[in-house]
Amino acid sequence: MNSRDQKIPKGFSNVWNFFWDSLFPQLCIYCEGERINGGNFLCGDCREAIQFLKEALCHTCGAPADISYDFPREDFQCGLCRKKPFAFDRARSQGRYDTVLKELIHFFKYRPQRGAVSEIKFLLEQFFPYEKEDLKGFWVLPIPLFKNKLQERQFDQAHLIASLVAKQFSLPMGQEWLVKIRDTAPQAKKNKTERVRNMRGAFSAANREILAGKDLLLVDDVFTTGATVSEASKVLKRSNCGRIYIFTLARA
Ligand SMILES: [Zn+2]
Ligand SMILES: [Zn+2]
Repeated sequence: MNSRDQKIPKGFSNVWNFFWDSLFPQLCIYCEGERINGGNFLCGDCREAIQFLKEALCHTCGAPADISYDFPREDFQCGLCRKKPFAFDRARSQGRYDTVLKELIHFFKYRPQRGAVSEIKFLLEQFFPYEKEDLKGFWVLPIPLFKNKLQERQFDQAHLIASLVAKQFSLPMGQEWLVKIRDTAPQAKKNKTERVRNMRGAFSAANREILAGKDLLLVDDVFTTGATVSEASKVLKRSNCGRIYIFTLARA
């Protein structure tokens, strides 16, 4: 267990961190060169280096658009969305899945550390790809992990990000409205078609009465081809929910 995960009484934690850092100086998880203070994982320079996705986007899926055209117009849609629409209504991400953000997500995914909260909270405070009005009346829903996976990992990244988003924007959170009913092989080395097939039938939605007409903000850590969030959206839409927007921390 990492020092940051131990239960330390409030008020004592600063003193504790000071002594801990003096004894065992921690280094930034990305550059591994800069020393960082208790509770942090990135140095100031690496944090600043995270690029937010503010540039031209496909209005629907959030893919960065080619700005050499006259786009983006409000209704600009990428080729992919025009050809084969996703099951969700809109997707946006915090930043690109590269360098610092990629390392940060990997670090937390494979080491169960609650300290992730402070770094992710910081990112959400700097920028968020939706306006508050866009999400009026929405319910936040994380992409669920399969039960066994959660026990194995003891850490649910999507749930953690979703809780932070709900808190920051004062949105209610749905509890187990979507569950993962079987384990799925890792998506990482699969192509687009294989990813879609891999996720098919992996989710189940709660009953129609709960979901009926509710607008949902589905939250996950990374958007790659959109196979996971699209499959989840398909299942939820079948249960008669309202609009589905996606938020991921990173976009590959
Ligand atoms: Zn650094
Ligand atoms: Zn698109």
